[in-house]
Amino acid sequence: MNITRVTSHVLRYDLDEVLGYSQQYYAARTAHLVEVETDERVTGWGECFGPGPVALANKTIVEQVLQPLVLGRDPLAREAIWHHCYNMMRDHGQKGMPIQALSGLDIALWDIAGKVAGLPLYRLLGGPTRERLPVYGYGMMLRRIPDLAGAFRDEAAAIREMGFAATKMKVGLGPETDVKLAQAVREGVGPDYRFAVDANHCYTTADAFRVGRALDDLGAYWFEEPVAPEDRAGYAELRAGLKTTISGGEAEFTRWGWRDLLEARALGLAQPEVCALGGISEYLKVVALCHAHFVPVINHVWGSAVAVATNMHLLAAMPDLPGGLHPWEPMLEFDTTPNRFRDEMLAEPLEIQRQVKESGGSVGLPGGPGLGVTPDPAFLDRFRIA
Ligand code: CA
Repeated sequence: MNITRVTSHVLRYDLDEVLGYSQQYYAARTAHLVEVETDERVTGWGECFGPGPVALANKTIVEQVLQPLVLGRDPLAREAIWHHCYNMMRDHGQKGMPIQALSGLDIALWDIAGKVAGLPLYRLLGGPTRERLPVYGYGMMLRRIPDLAGAFRDEAAAIREMGFAATKMKVGLGPETDVKLAQAVREGVGPDYRFAVDANHCYTTADAFRVGRALDDLGAYWFEEPVAPEDRAGYAELRAGLKTTISGGEAEFTRWGWRDLLEARALGLAQPEVCALGGISEYLKVVALCHAHFVPVINHVWGSAVAVATNMHLLAAMPDLPGGLHPWEPMLEFDTTPNRFRDEMLAEPLEIQRQVKESGGSVGLPGGPGLGVTPDPAFLDRFRIA
């Protein structure tokens, strides 16, 4: 079997409502899918992290840099292909867009491997470790409205009502306002429910301590990306000084980046992004590193149904750490804001919201073979911008 073509599909649509996080407001949703075709009519799908113009740049890397490196090669030689591509790009980018581009290609190769084996990805990976995945629903995005705290309180209550196992909010309007927003979310969900706080690295270490101490008092479940991803010493100081778990890692890449992050004892909870850090081949190494450092893992999840399904398989197969009769369980991250690329792209939708509602907070394992998801060609034609 040989690879005959690698195609990027960049999709975009305008949101009904502008949403924000600590770095920007955005009015459109984008997705970047990678399709790998073979001479035996087996096609694999992957996804690259990176919104908007980043997706357009990554498309060029996928099609102009990576495709020539893999044409004619056996798609099952995933490790050989990964290292060949990485070695050829190393001098030009050991993090960021080249690795995001490689991620989508690698995920598509795993999809092909699952289809060739006739197995769902989680079985190819040696799972399942668990039969169901708890799901947390994030929302509480920043919006330009007068009473954001009131809106956060109501939205947090609504997410709990939808059945999700936990929730997560954004902050980023300055420490004083952010503490008020967190108080509103605690009020909305009540005293006995887990909520996490995502800063998208907007604070100085001093401000992160101010917000973090308030989160300690509110009993927040984790404090995500409090400071810049490069500031590993800041992470370690926060982790040592706060009760709330410090999490992060969605902006870290490859085993080498993760090794340094973990050795700095920067994280109480690791959030690797498989569509950015180097794909499934590299994700497995990163999870092994996290487990070697006894840091639990809850995957960062963003993007279309392809990314969501990929993460469902990975979470289903993830070994218990540390294990027990009632082991610590990872959760599936789920964006509760409207996302047509997740909900409308597949002929057979994942239907996560319905499952969460019916089960009280969890989803069953995805099907197969491979990722078990095939984007509808007509849907891709409708939303493709490149
Ligand atoms: Ca985040």
